[in-house]
Order: sequence, then C-alpha cells, then structure tokens
Amino acid sequence: MHDTPYIHPRSKGCILCMRCTRVCPSGALQPVADDEGETIQKHVKMGIAAIDKNICNSYNNYACGVCVRACPFSGVALYAETWEKPVVNKEKCVGCGLCEQACIHYPQAIRVTPIAMVKG
Ligand code: SF4
Ligand code: SF4
Repeated sequence: MHDTPYIHPRSKGCILCMRCTRVCPSGALQPVADDEGETIQKHVKMGIAAIDKNICNSYNNYACGVCVRACPFSGVALYAETWEKPVVNKEKCVGCGLCEQACIHYPQAIRVTPIAMVKG
C-alpha cells in the first residue's frame, strides 16, 4: 500500500486532467480521451458518489445544489430534482470527488466510495 495513489476529495477532487498518466512509470494509469466527457464517463471509474439524505441541506428544507454545479458532468452524473435535491447516476459518475470537495455541509453530505469498496 505504500505510495499507492489515492484521492482525498475534501482536500482536492480529481479534475480529470490526465497528467498522472504522463508520469506513471508502469503504465497502470492510462490516458482517456476527452470527447465532451462521454469516453471519460465510460472508462474512468475511481469510485461512486452517494448522498446522505439525512444531512443534505436540499433534503432537509434548504435548497442547495452546490454539489450539482461542481460536478464536471452536471446534469448527467449528478443532477438536481425539485428544491435542488441531488441525485447520482451511478452509471455516469466517475468518482472524481469534486462534489464532495464542494459540499457546503460538514461533515460532507455527499461522499465518494472508492470503486474497490463498492458492493456488487
Ligand atoms: S457525482 Fe461527484 S464524483 Fe461523480 S462525477 Fe460528479 S462530481 Fe465526480
Ligand atoms: S452541496 Fe452538500 S448539502 Fe448541498 S445539495 Fe449537495 S450534498 Fe446536499
């Protein structure tokens, strides 16, 4: 596990710049072309975001939606229902963590679970 890269979303989410793939010496990280996001959504899967409705402002009478606006695939991977209630599309979420970084609630009401820890 030593030196294994990981993302700490509350500090900084992944902006999908692919620069890590340029310096990876083993080829474990491969670049993915950016064609308006479709290829990235298909091939990048670092984790999946989930919302804790018990503490999310929008699910508790205070319309927020900050996380939806922070998502690079807003409206696709993360979209808003009435009163800015965020909803994750698990098929499209890449696990970048930018929603978790942006969440105005503390502790975060939206968090990314690493893909290796996602059940089933
Ligand atoms: S829902 Fe969150 S983790 Fe998933 S793509 Fe959008 S910002 Fe990234
Ligand atoms: S930013 Fe946080 S509190 Fe606001 S809608 Fe998103 S998950 Fe809920």
